[in-house]
Amino acid sequence: SAGRVIPPESLREEYEALADKVRAYRFAYYNDDAPLVSDAEFDALYRRLEEIEALHPELVTNDSPTQEVGGDVSAAFAAVEHLARMYSLEDVFSVEELQAWLRRAEGSVVKLGAQAPLKWLTELKIDGLAVNLLYRDGRLIRAATRGDGTTGEDITHNVATIKDIPQQLKGANLPAEVEIRGEIFIASKNFTALNETMVAAGKAPFMNPRNAAAGSLRQKDPAETAKRPLSMYVHGIGARSGLDAPSQSESYELLKSWGLPISPYFKVLDGEGEVLEFIAHFGEHRHDLVHEIDGIVVKVDDFATQRALGYTSRVPRWSVAYKYPPEEVNTKLLDIAVNV
Ligand code: NAD
Repeated sequence: SAGRVIPPESLREEYEALADKVRAYRFAYYNDDAPLVSDAEFDALYRRLEEIEALHPELVTNDSPTQEVGGDVSAAFAAVEHLARMYSLEDVFSVEELQAWLRRAEGSVVKLGAQAPLKWLTELKIDGLAVNLLYRDGRLIRAATRGDGTTGEDITHNVATIKDIPQQLKGANLPAEVEIRGEIFIASKNFTALNETMVAAGKAPFMNPRNAAAGSLRQKDPAETAKRPLSMYVHGIGARSGLDAPSQSESYELLKSWGLPISPYFKVLDGEGEVLEFIAHFGEHRHDLVHEIDGIVVKVDDFATQRALGYTSRVPRWSVAYKYPPEEVNTKLLDIAVNV
């Protein structure tokens, strides 16, 4: 077509080498819980991949890393199909990009004829790993990692050792079936204590709380997981039947009454200005929190509007993650082999 630019061979080669690298880094991160590079370094490579694809969309294939939810199912676990797909999040790295994203979303909503102005559900982006909890008639049936978004790893027995996660929901009118999505993490104070225990036992400490949480949860022996101080906060709902709430924030109230752990930090906000204030506030206080964060997640609160906006193959169109600038890395810790 007119204006289409064929990528020069050198760019195609750069693109393919980059895509392979991103795949290998993802495998080390998700499968081995042992990242080979820092998140900032990974994000920069991923951005470059997106840049090349924006210039040359013909390079994009279905198995391009930008079209897939990063993650795999390790042979160490049984594979589990999620009832509803699990997604990643679109990232933005500056306030300007975030403003542009919010305005674009408002615009799309107006075009769809859906209700505007939007209410923004604003949450902390917990640096842990996603879990999918299937409850039937209030009973926890199964727990799985995100995996590739369609299929995750069965970690039911490991999750059973986590005190925050109820085996049985309480209350009347429990839904026939619901998938609760949340983030499993290790609280900052527990992380320090855990690493002290590791070092005292002559083992390598964990590189960061995310790694410690992932390594602890994906143990073959649930008795090992039971020794680790894992916590969880809910951040979404997947498949559901018999759960009526008009918005995500209202569903949180319901889930809380059933005994599920809801973050104390979320807010429902009006307009860009309030969202930017939230970001500035937690940018200043990010180390005063119970857990580590790597950003802020902004979501359209209304469920009907979420459904109207829908999903790409990788991310919801109704949510965005603002990433804080990377902080100084503790190079001493990085020199030590990562413990799994
Ligand atoms: P992501 O972590 O950027 O965002 C999606 C995930 O955020 C969700 O699956 C969910 O688990 C989590 N999350 C936390 N709080 C949430 C909230 N309040 N609401 C909704 N979701 C919330 O995406 P990703 O695809 O899992 O991975 C990309 C991230 O992993 C990047 O930060 C990247 O740097 C890192 N990564 C690093 C390496 C490496 O080698 N260092 C490799 C792969 C990925």
